[in-house]
Amino acid sequence: MLYSNTMNSRHTIGFLSAVCLSLNLCLAAALAAQSKKAGPGYTDTAILPDQRWHVHDPNRPHPNPVTPGNVLGAAPSDAIVLFDGHDLSRWMQNPGGKPVDAKWRVENGYFECVPRTGDLLTRDKFGDVQLHIEWSEPAGVKGTSQERGNSGVLLMNRYEVQVLDSYKDLTYADGQAGALYGQWPPLVNPIRKPDEWQAYDIVFEAPKWKGEKLVRPAYATVFFNGVLVHHRKEILGTMAHRLVAKYTPHGDEEPLSLQDHGNPVRYRNVWIRRLNGYDQPER
Ligand code: MG
Repeated sequence: MLYSNTMNSRHTIGFLSAVCLSLNLCLAAALAAQSKKAGPGYTDTAILPDQRWHVHDPNRPHPNPVTPGNVLGAAPSDAIVLFDGHDLSRWMQNPGGKPVDAKWRVENGYFECVPRTGDLLTRDKFGDVQLHIEWSEPAGVKGTSQERGNSGVLLMNRYEVQVLDSYKDLTYADGQAGALYGQWPPLVNPIRKPDEWQAYDIVFEAPKWKGEKLVRPAYATVFFNGVLVHHRKEILGTMAHRLVAKYTPHGDEEPLSLQDHGNPVRYRNVWIRRLNGYDQPER
């Protein structure tokens, strides 16, 4: 009996020790997690309207660190670099619905549309994005109006920010460089001369669908050579010529494309960031 009681006590002590050890480990893990989260702030403040966080909440996720590019216009650390001056491996063309390697010409750190080979499409697909892209009209650009250095940046392969030589050359306002083609002219025209590099910085919010029903249109914010030309402007639908644009259903993510309009327009320094919203889990 004594033996039995002693054994029971030993078992009990052993069991309790194991539980304590587990609890200690759990507590240590919880404290470690808390100390990672813990920071200056307040939990006795009001909850922000339509959010789940207190004002100055110490437990709100901290934005993930991103290293900006070392010069203005350079890709930050979390960007997908679509063209770094060397190759078009992230792009393709799709003649007749058959994907092939990109045929546009790469030279001297840029790539140039080879007319009538077709649009260029990214191999990856995107929804909400920040896009940086630089473009240039070759010296000696020919033609006038829509035949003068026409190309285009098509978000989701549909929603066009026009690329055109609009420097001292007239076309219809909603078709000049920086226009949301056929919908909204740019607020101002900050274009540079042909043979100089131009930059678009675009924030694009993809349309939202419930099945085939549009529940929120797309929006675009566009900086043209650093100048705001569209401020969260609602996009009316898929780019159309001589028609009012309208939406047709598509995926949550689609390729970015560059338009072959028959003119040798050049592009360089192309990068894109997927936009995932506030309060992402900390990495
Ligand atoms: Mg165009």
